[in-house]
Amino acid sequence: MVQIDRMEIDDAGSDPKRLAKAILDQLPEDTVLVPVREIAKAIDIYEIREEQLSGLEGALIVPKEKSEGAILINKGRHESRKRYTIAHELGHYVHPFHRANSPDGFRCKKNDLTVTKAKPNDLHSRMEQQANEFAAELLMPARAVASFIRDSGDADLSHILEMARRHDVSREAAARRYIPRIGDPAAVIFSKGGVVRYARCNEFFPKLSVCRGDLVPQHSVSALSTADVGEVTGCVEVGAHMWLQSSAGVTLFEQTLAQQNSFRMTLLTAVIEEIEDEWETVPSQSFEFTS
Ligand SMILES: [Zn+2]
Repeated sequence: MVQIDRMEIDDAGSDPKRLAKAILDQLPEDTVLVPVREIAKAIDIYEIREEQLSGLEGALIVPKEKSEGAILINKGRHESRKRYTIAHELGHYVHPFHRANSPDGFRCKKNDLTVTKAKPNDLHSRMEQQANEFAAELLMPARAVASFIRDSGDADLSHILEMARRHDVSREAAARRYIPRIGDPAAVIFSKGGVVRYARCNEFFPKLSVCRGDLVPQHSVSALSTADVGEVTGCVEVGAHMWLQSSAGVTLFEQTLAQQNSFRMTLLTAVIEEIEDEWETVPSQSFEFTS
């Protein structure tokens, strides 16, 4: 049985990462599949109720002082989605500054569960972003993710699928956690029916030329692939100009995965030629002449 000391969480402050860590530190060190329902129970969530919700993805019913609570989740979702929603509501529950947006508690819509960047001066979006940050940290423990990425080598879509399986989270949640932690330039593009939904790039990746609502480039692997649903394509070199604002010096690789209901996930990785000082680019060997 999972036992969690709530005092340890109270002492962690208000940083979502530290709050999640205060819980993870009380689980066995090698935990990969985090027992989120047991954690909820251990910190006085007396019920996780599954209902057909309309317009809502999850809710946290709590008194003002948050001494105990109940979580409501949308019935008929995959277990991975339910786990994420529970973790998100737990984020609101343990965060010392989160206050309910309705008299009966926190009511979270589908869009709230995808906020990764809060709108400036918007308290609601800030709380949702923090609950999502907490959920990602809790369900995909930093230590387990770091060692998985270290051991798995070059970026590959199959690693995202493996991460999703290991932690029982959605592929999208796994991708959002994976991309910023890859040491090479990488981006993932989520699309539906050939239209870009959104993209996540890591700090090394050049600027994309596509944004939300655009068609995926017509000659890209994403547009042309005939691979079956669930089958990851090989990683092939493509014209960098198709995806990037500036393709100079960039070699781009694309790999894609068709999912159910015409959803698609595409991984782009780049090799960027280093532009050095012009004097340094001419090694002394270049002056060897033969006569
Ligand atoms: Zn929320």
